[in-house]
Amino acid sequence: MKTEKGFAHRANKDGSFDSICLKCYATVGTAYDESDLDAMEAVHHCTEWLMGRPAKA
Ligand SMILES: [Zn+2]
Repeated sequence: MKTEKGFAHRANKDGSFDSICLKCYATVGTAYDESDLDAMEAVHHCTEWLMGRPAKA
């Protein structure tokens, strides 16, 4: 897992990648090309009602 710009990238068993916001812990998106996550992160806005909830593993 690498972290940059406040998002964590997680490799899935099927070869895709999840991008997870480290502020609100929302899954920003899933893509098979990790570079595609950049565009999803660029348009992500944290959902305030999610913030402060305990993060699920
Ligand atoms: Zn967020």
